[in-house]
Amino acid sequence: MTHHDDLHDLHPETLAVHAGRPERVPDGPLNTPVHLTSTYSAGGPVAYGRYGNPSWTAFEEALGALEGGRCVSFASGIAAIAAVFDLVPTGGVVVAPRHSYTGTIGQLDDLAAAREVEVRYIDVRDAPQVADAAAGADLVWIESPTNPALEVADLEAIGRAARDAGALFAVDNTFAGPLLQHPLDSGAHLSVHSATKSIAGHSDVLMGAVIGRDDELLARIEQRRRLNGAIPGAFEAFLALRGLRTLPVRLERMQSTARAIAERLDGHPALEEVRYPGFGTIVSIVVQGGADAAERVAESTRVWLHATSLGGVESTLERRRRWPAEAETIPEGLVRLSVGLEHPDDLVRDLERALDAAAPPVATD
Ligand SMILES: *Cc1c(COP(=O)(O)O)cnc(C)c1O
Repeated sequence: MTHHDDLHDLHPETLAVHAGRPERVPDGPLNTPVHLTSTYSAGGPVAYGRYGNPSWTAFEEALGALEGGRCVSFASGIAAIAAVFDLVPTGGVVVAPRHSYTGTIGQLDDLAAAREVEVRYIDVRDAPQVADAAAGADLVWIESPTNPALEVADLEAIGRAARDAGALFAVDNTFAGPLLQHPLDSGAHLSVHSATKSIAGHSDVLMGAVIGRDDELLARIEQRRRLNGAIPGAFEAFLALRGLRTLPVRLERMQSTARAIAERLDGHPALEEVRYPGFGTIVSIVVQGGADAAERVAESTRVWLHATSLGGVESTLERRRRWPAEAETIPEGLVRLSVGLEHPDDLVRDLERALDAAAPPVATD
């Protein structure tokens, strides 16, 4: 089934299109079909629908090829993260970003309460601080760039420190995606995705993935999927792979628009701050006037959709602190922008109009 090895010398754009296709045989389909079955005829290695599905395998081959490892797909990003956190023993130690996806923080809070896991929160930008915290840790968990603060970690330095400390090193690679950042090449044992976001890319499916190179470690991850039943649907896997095929072109366009928006908004009088790490498709702006002004901006755009989540073809925005679970060190006025495929001028004009309405320019005379 794996054509991975034949494809290793190809560029990511080509891999995204070709990895995970069926064998080329006369009248064979070009796409792996949606395999709707809960069980299989006895005698094979898969046996049951919770243990495997060819539609998952096709997606896993393609994402694994892009990340440079083997992929285990999950029902959602949070299910993938849970499978990694399940590797932490009772009473263990986890190093984690103080700013990260709210569901990740929620899981860590649960681990701390239910399994007496010690969580050491760090600033991902501060590699020496992370290295200190890694001493005696079971898992160093890094998100980079962080959601929604957009802080960037030095993965190589953290990878060295984590390995020196004998800790498992895992990276939530959702914000950079499988084309811009390869955690496994920077020393990570595992790279994790919410494929719900830019990989699937059309806001119509939830899926997650864990990618690694160590067979024993991946077997433990796959075991968590089996035992927790955190499996993707066959149709979801089909859609996520269909989305992945066009990720390179979507990323190119979305990233160039994100960069243009960050440059254009920089210094806007209604903003305290524009955050853009220099790559990726997410921009965070901090609106002057705090929560109310930021909510007005999020409510008054015409093209941008007011919605949570990110990475879709349609641009979305939201004030992150509207979620009680968001970290209190995220500014009240921070609005996260997920840049889609619309014309950049329409996006900029729409935002500028919303910002002007929410925070009218101060008269200068
Ligand atoms: C959305 C997101 C998740 C959770 O993924 P789901 O697919 O919604 O379960 C995890 N990490 C990051 C960085 C995310 O943005």
